[in-house]
Amino acid sequence: MSSNIEIIRVCEQCKKEFIARTTVTKYCSMACTKKVYRSRQKSIKINASNKETFLKVNKIKEPVKDRDFLTVRQASLLLNMSPKTIYRLIERNDINSFNFSERKTTIRRKDIDFYFDVNLKILEKNKIDLMTDYNLEN
Ligand SMILES: [Zn+2]
Repeated sequence: MSSNIEIIRVCEQCKKEFIARTTVTKYCSMACTKKVYRSRQKSIKINASNKETFLKVNKIKEPVKDRDFLTVRQASLLLNMSPKTIYRLIERNDINSFNFSERKTTIRRKDIDFYFDVNLKILEKNKIDLMTDYNLEN
């Protein structure tokens, strides 16, 4: 937002004084803004790469709960259900999934969360305890 105000500030990138037109301006020019953006993107990439290397070197697998995409097996671990139950939920279209190939079914974490959000609401209405429901199934 531009205005008639003129504030003397110091650019957070090149440390030079400049006249800002808003109270939130941090950089003197588009060039400085771009420089900051690029170095931020770079450090995001470096951090991601370092994390990947760390996990690989230490043979650590990313915890299932932190993954955005899950295999049926991972989803079953996360939900403490058998893979068979997961396949049944997928078959009934209770949980969305995507088949990259016949043997590679992928489930989005947010679809699992969505499944619970919807079902918890229904269960709340019917006053049925979710855990009892699944214990009966096993
Ligand atoms: Zn600058």
